[in-house]
Amino acid sequence: DNMRSILQKISNNIDLNKEDILYVLESKDKIVFDALIKTADVIRKECVGDRIEIRAAIEFSNYCIKNCNYCGLRRHKNQFRYRMKEDEILKEVDKLYKLGIKTVILQSGEDPYYTTEKIISIIRKIKQKYKMGITLSIGERTEEEYKIFKNSGVNNYLLKIETSSEDLFEYIHYDSKFKTRVKHTEWIKNAGLRLGSGGMIGLPKQTLDQIADVILFQKDYGVHMIGFGPFIPTKGTPFESEKTSDLDLNLKVIALTRIVCQNVFIPATTAISTLNREGQTKSLLAGANTIMLISTPEKLREKYGIYSEKNMVDLDFTIESIKYSNRKLPKYLNYDYIQELGYDIDKNL
Ligand code: SAM
Ligand code: SF4
Repeated sequence: DNMRSILQKISNNIDLNKEDILYVLESKDKIVFDALIKTADVIRKECVGDRIEIRAAIEFSNYCIKNCNYCGLRRHKNQFRYRMKEDEILKEVDKLYKLGIKTVILQSGEDPYYTTEKIISIIRKIKQKYKMGITLSIGERTEEEYKIFKNSGVNNYLLKIETSSEDLFEYIHYDSKFKTRVKHTEWIKNAGLRLGSGGMIGLPKQTLDQIADVILFQKDYGVHMIGFGPFIPTKGTPFESEKTSDLDLNLKVIALTRIVCQNVFIPATTAISTLNREGQTKSLLAGANTIMLISTPEKLREKYGIYSEKNMVDLDFTIESIKYSNRKLPKYLNYDYIQELGYDIDKNL
């Protein structure tokens, strides 16, 4: 049957085509689902091993000039806005460094207040003092800026394609064009930055055919970190009454992404753990290998409300998920310091 031939292709290292992917996405058969998840788990182990990569995100500003229809940070939403100053950001980075974290993600709305100069100044200081890997996720900038960021030490740039369907992209974006987003994707790569992409699953009007396409898009563009997370309706946005995404569909997408793209970073997203308490563990068992800790200062966290009832992925939550999924913590963490802070962490894990 179909699934048998798909599994055979996978074990013979033959690329899956769009029909194969679509077959799996459409199937309601539990046997197909279980076989897919197990296969992705085997490939994950072969490609990236058992250790989880832990990265930390500092959401340093929730100001945004854009009006994406799905997002709780959109300009037209009335809410408390904050911007962290350079020294506040560096204070958080210092804590992450002490924990042993190797890569920090600096994320914000599209906020022109942070000029190229302000961003570079933060990056240089992080590089000089801590030598950590840096991922920027601050929306669309200019071609020139991507190059400047690269030259000042940024390693990765996360700008999700969200969907590779032009129609759907322009339906969910009030003021962004699909072709522009693709151009930025190329600029980021051409600047020599490693590309982070991915998108949302279960968007209003999104078809399974479009989901198959966006998975293949990641492979075509050589994406390094592929974050697929569920769409979650957010109060106060045009999509507030839309349907929440389905957990199993998201797990299928993670599994297919691992099978199709192989040696890449796939995060168990904050969004999936908001959808379901066990979402993170289940993602790790379906092909994911990366967790992003939310490291925004506590008093600001709830203000970065991309979507409603966001789960706080902190160190406690992460340690639990890793234990439940039978995976290993990274060696680079500073276990003595983490124990000193009072966390129940076993360095032999
Ligand atoms: N402003 C930058 C950008 O758009 O790339 C970075 C911050 S933006 C809040 C980060 C990601 O949040 C987006 O790429 C999008 O996939 C996700 N996001 C926003 N609203 C969401 C929602 N309602 N449900 C799920 N994910 C959402
Ligand atoms: Fe702004 Fe990014 Fe949210 Fe769009 S997704 S409104 S650019 S923060």
